[in-house]
Amino acid sequence: MMQKKEIAVGVLGACGNIGRTHAHNIATYVDGARLAAVYDLDAEKTTAFAEPYGAKVMDSAEALIASPEVDAVLIASWDGTHADLAVKCIEAGKPVFCEKPLATTLEDAKKVVEAERAAGKRLVQVGFMRRFDPDYIKMKKILDSGELGAPLMAHCISRTRSHPAHHTTAQHITNIAIHEIDICRWLLGEDLSEVSVRFPRSTQFAGPELKDPQLVLMQSESGVLIDVEVSGNSYYGYEILCELVCEKGTIRLPVSAEPLVRSYLQCAQAIPEDWTNRFVTAYRAELQHWVDHLRGLAAEPGPGTQDGYAACVAAEALIHAQQTGQWEPVTA
Ligand code: NAP
Repeated sequence: MMQKKEIAVGVLGACGNIGRTHAHNIATYVDGARLAAVYDLDAEKTTAFAEPYGAKVMDSAEALIASPEVDAVLIASWDGTHADLAVKCIEAGKPVFCEKPLATTLEDAKKVVEAERAAGKRLVQVGFMRRFDPDYIKMKKILDSGELGAPLMAHCISRTRSHPAHHTTAQHITNIAIHEIDICRWLLGEDLSEVSVRFPRSTQFAGPELKDPQLVLMQSESGVLIDVEVSGNSYYGYEILCELVCEKGTIRLPVSAEPLVRSYLQCAQAIPEDWTNRFVTAYRAELQHWVDHLRGLAAEPGPGTQDGYAACVAAEALIHAQQTGQWEPVTA
């Protein structure tokens, strides 16, 4: 732990959707941190973004990671860049907050695990922000209290309004279902043992190479059966649902609390367009926890390399299951 007053954070991929959100949260909401430096591929866009925050614009990801003005790095660039950048941060001895997924292949995830092992200390927090969402936290508290008995099944839904045409069938796992893989491991407090995928008819809104939606099936070590509808082109909006079925009752994640509006001959409730407004609290809380841990103010680290790696192991088994149509074991 750094035991330091203020953490100077450098953000990679700062001009992307989540990069802007994280950079703004570091600069504005997170106690004990400041936005010191940013890097993104488009220099002009990055300069315009950095200016109001007074953050330094770096020439490359490597320059940001190496900079003595940067204490810790936040990776918010695209999925396929995470593992390589995380390894560079670890090799530079810098703590890193890495957006999900830790890697897009198990081989790359192993490189991060090995780099952290070689560094001899924990340096990575993975952006599994649902663990910091107040509603998921309440669900876990009720489950862990034991009042409803043992969990038996989980029904999950992850619907996103649309995805670009280049989004692939495998990315439904590495980019989207990775959240359910992690949150189910966390809620249940155990690993997954086997997985399968079923494909219904594809929506007309999916790109030619994409099978969408998908039904992801996962079984935990103790036998909890999890089903996840992963819809990348729901058309109508963004929704994340989860219901745990236990021996003596169920625990359901509340749907977002938009007002119920009654108008002429109708009663309606708005549905979010994307993730931006659904997990506002969680995005701030995960970064606050990261910074608190670096400053020695939070004893427990957030989700780390081992969680990111375990999710990649399950993701690899699911991608294999997409091809075989069978149940596949989750083995590292
Ligand atoms: P995005 O809008 O495409 O942003 C990614 C940014 O990174 C773009 O500005 C991109 O530049 C830049 N970039 C690409 N390679 C880079 C590199 N090597 N170094 C620095 N910058 C680089 O994508 P996004 O939706 O923000 O997603 C970014 C990451 O966050 C993804 O891994 C995604 O899975 C994750 N994410 C997580 C959540 C969550 O709920 N936890 C939500 C959204 C996204 P160009 O556009 O010029 O390529």
